[in-house]
Amino acid sequence: MAVEGNGSSVCFGSKLPDIKFTKLFINGEFVDALSGKTFETIDPRTGEVIARIAEGDAEDVDLAVKAARDAFDHGPWPRLPGSERRRIMLKFADLVEQNIEELAALDAIDAGKLFSMGKAIDIPFAVNTLQYYAGAADKIHGKTLKMSRELQGYTLREPIGVVGHITPWNYPSNMFFMKASPALAAGCTMVIKPAEQTPLSALYYAHLSKLAGVPDGVINVITGFGPTAGAAISSHMDIDKVSFTGSTEVGRLVMQAAATSNLKPVSLELGGKSPLLIFDDADVDTAADLALLGVFCNKGELCVSSSRVLVQEGIYEELVEKLAKKAKAWVVGDPFDPSSSQGPQVDKNQYDKILSYIEHGKREGATLLTGGKPCGEKGYYIEPTIFTDVMDNMLIAQDEIFGPVMSLMKFKTIDEGIKRANATRYGLAAGIVTKDLNVANTVSRSIRAGIVWINCYIAFDNGCPYGGYKMSGFGREFGMEALDQYLQVKSVYKSLLTRRGGKLRERERE
Ligand code: NAD
Repeated sequence: MAVEGNGSSVCFGSKLPDIKFTKLFINGEFVDALSGKTFETIDPRTGEVIARIAEGDAEDVDLAVKAARDAFDHGPWPRLPGSERRRIMLKFADLVEQNIEELAALDAIDAGKLFSMGKAIDIPFAVNTLQYYAGAADKIHGKTLKMSRELQGYTLREPIGVVGHITPWNYPSNMFFMKASPALAAGCTMVIKPAEQTPLSALYYAHLSKLAGVPDGVINVITGFGPTAGAAISSHMDIDKVSFTGSTEVGRLVMQAAATSNLKPVSLELGGKSPLLIFDDADVDTAADLALLGVFCNKGELCVSSSRVLVQEGIYEELVEKLAKKAKAWVVGDPFDPSSSQGPQVDKNQYDKILSYIEHGKREGATLLTGGKPCGEKGYYIEPTIFTDVMDNMLIAQDEIFGPVMSLMKFKTIDEGIKRANATRYGLAAGIVTKDLNVANTVSRSIRAGIVWINCYIAFDNGCPYGGYKMSGFGREFGMEALDQYLQVKSVYKSLLTRRGGKLRERERE
């Protein structure tokens, strides 16, 4: 079948994977939901059902938490030497690598992600995340403190316990390993709830974890919906920490549930409305490429999407022309076709939401430079869309659209650019394109966001912490900062004096 997109037409690929895992993964076994209920997971290329998946709810979450609690309190995982956890995690990483084509294909049919990108970038990065934290598993240690003549102390860094992970659908493989890897290294056990739109690869990873030798009960996967399975995780009295990635609205609910249950700590990776600032001295080609990448990569379903592109006035007209030309060459098509730059949006809801924002932008008076329409005879494809004449107070400049929609805006001075870049409730990421080091330094220090990219965009490294300012959340993924979130510190005080024959005597120094 052909998909029309921006004048190009492509064909569906033939590498459709078998669906092997559709049930909940609890205590090392694939099981049906206790209710027997299932839900459909949909192929966004066609809108057709791929498979029916077990629909876990509170009762299933409870079983999974019991398994994770038992594995934490009595099982080997937290008690293993770090080097042994490292060995098992590296084996797990090898197994993911050996199955990379099948996993990239699962994410392509479930999330509409480009198969080539999954295979060459996303899943190799997820493997690297697991390897990075495997390397950290035997390097977790506390401190020794000499306090006084009478007291010595030391700190232990202990795993926080049973962790709940709740993830979104835009990067199913990366989300799984971003959450599971540091928790595994720390010695935690866990219940993972992938997004209902994209459950397939998480179940496959559960299967591979068992093959790698991760003990039963350490990783449990509950597929199901947010208000039932997700809410049961955030309010569970026997989960010690929740790590959530998703929308700001749901992040608030997760935090409320944690606060009103057992006060479990929460880390939140939430939405964004990130600015890309392009200065007059920028190379126009580079700037246009970064702007396109920043907002159309992964069909705009990207939390760090540079959906607000602020351009200094001297370069504005030239950049607009370049963007229009380059956007027309951006191919919307089947995620299995190597010539596609952009696949379908994840589902009908997301597709409808993006199209309604586009209509809103038109009604508010923004000018459509490219795109603005759905494409293809079926499936959830949308043209890469660029609006010019966007004002800061328009909805398309304020709300996270999470789709291939760019808002172009013009600014005069550096101060104005910084002020407008910061005029958002979010603070996830920002980009700067300039050749001037002073401008880059000034702007990067003035932007209130967790990541700033200078002359690049969407660059990630597992060693570099990632997370939000303001309403984009708190806590960090990646780096040792993420590992810290799965550890807690215990202080042990030791008396150096002993009481013998009614007298205090100084103990031999160690
Ligand atoms: P979402 O908030 O709707 O859902 C995220 C997860 O939360 C899903 O697993 C969902 O089932 C679950 N959930 C829904 N209601 C819940 C509830 N009441 N209690 C507990 N869990 C519940 O988000 P989404 O639509 O899946 O993803 C898109 C959003 O995620 C965007 O806002 C995007 O910016 C954000 N995101 C952020 C990052 C980041 O790192 N900051 C990364 C990716 C996506």
